Amino acid sequence: MTNPNGRFGAHGGQYIPETLMNAVIELEEAYNHLKDDPEFKAELHAYLNDYANRPSRLYFAQRLTEELGGAKIYLKREDLNHTGAHKINNALGQALLAKRMDKTRLIAETGAGQHGVATATVAALLGMECHVYMGVEDMERQALNVYRMRLMGAEVHGVDSGTGTLKDAVSECMREWTKRIDDTHYLLGSCMGPHPFPTIVRDFQAFIGQEIADQCLELEGRLPDYVVACVGGGSNAIGSFHRFIDHPEVKLIGCEAAGRGIDTFQTAATLNTGSLGIFHGMKSYFCQDKYGQIAPVYSISAGLDYPGIGPEHAWLHDIGRAEYVAVTDEAAVDAFERLSRTEGIIPAIESAHALAHVLELAPKLPRETIVVVTLSGRGDKDCAAMARYRGEQINE
Ligand SMILES: *Cc1c(COP(=O)(O)O)cnc(C)c1O
Repeated sequence: MTNPNGRFGAHGGQYIPETLMNAVIELEEAYNHLKDDPEFKAELHAYLNDYANRPSRLYFAQRLTEELGGAKIYLKREDLNHTGAHKINNALGQALLAKRMDKTRLIAETGAGQHGVATATVAALLGMECHVYMGVEDMERQALNVYRMRLMGAEVHGVDSGTGTLKDAVSECMREWTKRIDDTHYLLGSCMGPHPFPTIVRDFQAFIGQEIADQCLELEGRLPDYVVACVGGGSNAIGSFHRFIDHPEVKLIGCEAAGRGIDTFQTAATLNTGSLGIFHGMKSYFCQDKYGQIAPVYSISAGLDYPGIGPEHAWLHDIGRAEYVAVTDEAAVDAFERLSRTEGIIPAIESAHALAHVLELAPKLPRETIVVVTLSGRGDKDCAAMARYRGEQINE
């Protein structure tokens, strides 16, 4: 789906300083060499299965389906993976790749801390040194994840440039990588950044969609009619979609965070409000001001408030193969509570954005329609914030 320069239509590419070119070329060569290597694949699969708990289940949400009275709703349970989200798939894949490239150090950016925790986890597992860059603002808001990373042996570095949030942590990581590429791999957390990252991350998340297809064929004898997933940078969504891109009968829907609404400035809905630009090494759509400066973004969900979107999604949007809808904080919190009550499953607030759209969509569809929604993570981490949203203070 990518051309050799890492383009997805007009998007993607490698907009990086010359000093990083060697690093991305080395990475691309290693990846192309290893991706079909049976030994590498076997090693990755062993870790995915034995350590991360794959394959994740495709669960029929019977009570929710009955309540809504329309399409059959299945949940792809990435929340049941070790560390509680899909991020471990990519972290394992890239860390094993880095090992094969004789790298001994991993660096990573993190916003809410989820990707930092996944990276610290695989670093501990594989005995690698780990440095995580995190905005100082985020470090304060996500103190528990900072503790988790340190507990597993990672060093967490505060980034105080810009707004002290995720986009600044990504920029800092790219700078750090430039300084030390010999022994260091930049374990990027979503399907974004310069080529080959969007392709590598997609491939390591594509197990999600492959499993959805296999499991749906087994349970229902056919592919689903809809696959719905939330979109931050876009990795759980592209991982869910990839298997189905050449099956136009399967509708693909990505759910962005509208925050307080796409007609306000407090939003993170890149495709619904952004415009074409170049940032973090790629051409794609970004939330930006009239001068082309990256705009501050907002969502109740820390995992979805990135001001850009992966280039493959930008392309799927351009060609109309996938649809991208915006979901507000309010609708996501409703969905968070609804799934908890109806199925006894507390979803990550990120995943609740995808679920919120399904709550609206399913009642309008015939009963034989099959809708799969990717539950990208579990919601234990969000409980205190959700309580606060409803005006209740609880001790974390
Ligand atoms: C990080 C995160 C996301 C957003 O990242 P994508 O790359 O868009 O998948 C979504 N859900 C959960 C649970 C996350 O931790």
